[in-house]
Amino acid sequence: MNELSTMSVKTPEERLKELEMQLKIYASRNLDLNMSRGKPCSDQLDLSNEMLTIPIPIENDPNKDLRNYGTLDGLPETKKLFADILEVNPSEIIIGGNSSLSMMYNALAKAMLYGTFDSERPWKDEISVKFICPVPGYDRHFTICEQLGIEMIPVEMKEDGPDMVKVEALVKNDPTIKGMWCVPKYSNPSGITYSSDVVGRLASMVTAATDFKLMWDNAYVVHDLYDEVDHLDNIMEACKAAGNPDRAYLFTSMSKVTFAGAAVAAMAGSEACINHILKILGVQTIGTDKINQYRHVAFLRDSDGVTAHMKKHAEIIRPKFQVVLDLFEQHFGDRVMAQWSKPKGGYFINLNLKNSSAKEVVRLAETAGLKLTEAGATFPYKNDPLDSNLRIAPTFPPLEEMTTAIEILCICIELVYLKFQEK
Ligand code: PMP
Repeated sequence: MNELSTMSVKTPEERLKELEMQLKIYASRNLDLNMSRGKPCSDQLDLSNEMLTIPIPIENDPNKDLRNYGTLDGLPETKKLFADILEVNPSEIIIGGNSSLSMMYNALAKAMLYGTFDSERPWKDEISVKFICPVPGYDRHFTICEQLGIEMIPVEMKEDGPDMVKVEALVKNDPTIKGMWCVPKYSNPSGITYSSDVVGRLASMVTAATDFKLMWDNAYVVHDLYDEVDHLDNIMEACKAAGNPDRAYLFTSMSKVTFAGAAVAAMAGSEACINHILKILGVQTIGTDKINQYRHVAFLRDSDGVTAHMKKHAEIIRPKFQVVLDLFEQHFGDRVMAQWSKPKGGYFINLNLKNSSAKEVVRLAETAGLKLTEAGATFPYKNDPLDSNLRIAPTFPPLEEMTTAIEILCICIELVYLKFQEK
């Protein structure tokens, strides 16, 4: 009898016992595995070490000295690099510090305090402020809203982006809906890229709020895993063409291109929006780190240089994604216990479980030394109504640890599933 046929004759009780024993063995190994956050691994960080030793030019002209204060909107060459990546004009770019998340937080905090360029009043003076949040989505977007008192309305992600019928109906009639979070390419965590139809509708939909903003977080714009890449339409062009030139705030960063903690971030918007933000920003700072901006351009050169560099990242992380996909296929090939995404880029695999079991799976995995992203984190207010969604972040652990981690996860999923069947 081969192994498969032996397995198939086991009763659910026997299989349950076997899985419990396997988990016990893992637990006895005092493992400390962490798959909770989408962080690059050391090998990925090493790809950019050369940047640390790039000398900076010491200019004769004191006004151009990179070491000194100034240049609030960023160095022209850095603006050009980000403008090419985000497909906007350099005049539509502000270079920030190391974090695009911090630029997003700032953009919304400024909107609350002062309003946007096209607001009638600060958002804090509105009766309420609401945001549409495609789900599952990025937990840190949701915690920004929670902290700023922005009410979140979840809208389901479909295969080609957010459910536009719902979105259009919501924004058309409610002037307190001031914006929407979008991770339009290789979305966190679903891996979905918005279709041309979705991008066009987001740009042209009728909004009751005249200062409605798309928070277009293009964090994974250059993060392709394979030669065949997803195409994303240009949101800025679509907004301009639809007569809504001030609708989109775009964000991205080099966090997962060079160094996650010491990269360069950028924001883009119409010139009117950018000039409005620069006026407020000029009170907040005299400028960001020009030395790092210079080094990024010297190292990456241009958008072709970024693409070439990202291929090296893909070579490191693609096998890790593949291990997860292979193990899921091996354990749950019939898709009864679990369903998952096969993203062409980005940092996550999206996993949906049966029987409201995500919280229990996360708890059980922790008993065996595996930390996963908290169940519910991918929904506003941590409320996943089906308790089914888990975000798998394969990039950080070494390949061998990752394999162990996913084996533990698969055991936990099957265990919880069988226990539910027993009830
Ligand atoms: N946006 C998304 C969608 C992300 O997944 C992440 C990182 N997990 C960020 C923003 C953070 O970007 P940054 O490092 O530029 O702050």
